[in-house]
Amino acid sequence: MSEHSLTVIRLENASSAEREEIIVGVRDLLLARAVILPNDRRGALWQPSEWKPGPGARRAVVEPVDWFDAFLDTANNGVDIYGDRDVYHPVENDEAPRCPHCAASAPTAYTDSYGDWLQEWFADGREPVFACDRCGWSGLVGDWTGQFSVLIGAPAVTFRNWPPLSPAMTTDIRAALGGRTGIVASHW
Ligand SMILES: [Zn+2]
Repeated sequence: MSEHSLTVIRLENASSAEREEIIVGVRDLLLARAVILPNDRRGALWQPSEWKPGPGARRAVVEPVDWFDAFLDTANNGVDIYGDRDVYHPVENDEAPRCPHCAASAPTAYTDSYGDWLQEWFADGREPVFACDRCGWSGLVGDWTGQFSVLIGAPAVTFRNWPPLSPAMTTDIRAALGGRTGIVASHW
């Protein structure tokens, strides 16, 4: 069975104390709306995540979703909130992001030096900057447009095999994470 996930990530650096505070904020937001509940049946093959969908999950997704009831019974439909900095890769969805000004694809340097800049970003925490070939705009890789490109950051919230989240829900999660944020939609 093919699987997918959606991760909302804070890109801006945060101290470990800040990250802990942010995690509490995100968790409380999702719990207060009953979007998630503690997963009382955790198991590697069935539900590995710390959180499971709650009754409020229906209101957190784009309406209408005709497979929502089936979704509640599927394996691996949990939610995880991560505090440690990590790499979020779109796997089979992978594509270069687009310029927020002219929608051109990221320059060839993005693809050609992918492994190098990704490793540097992870190792030293400096998010790379790319310049647009078409219009000259340049910006941090997380400020390019798209949700099918690799990102690094913390904290992050991953929804596993969920229907698409509503724009309002996504906006609220981004606000709870604070600072610059990004989204990675993965498929594998
Ligand atoms: Zn451009």
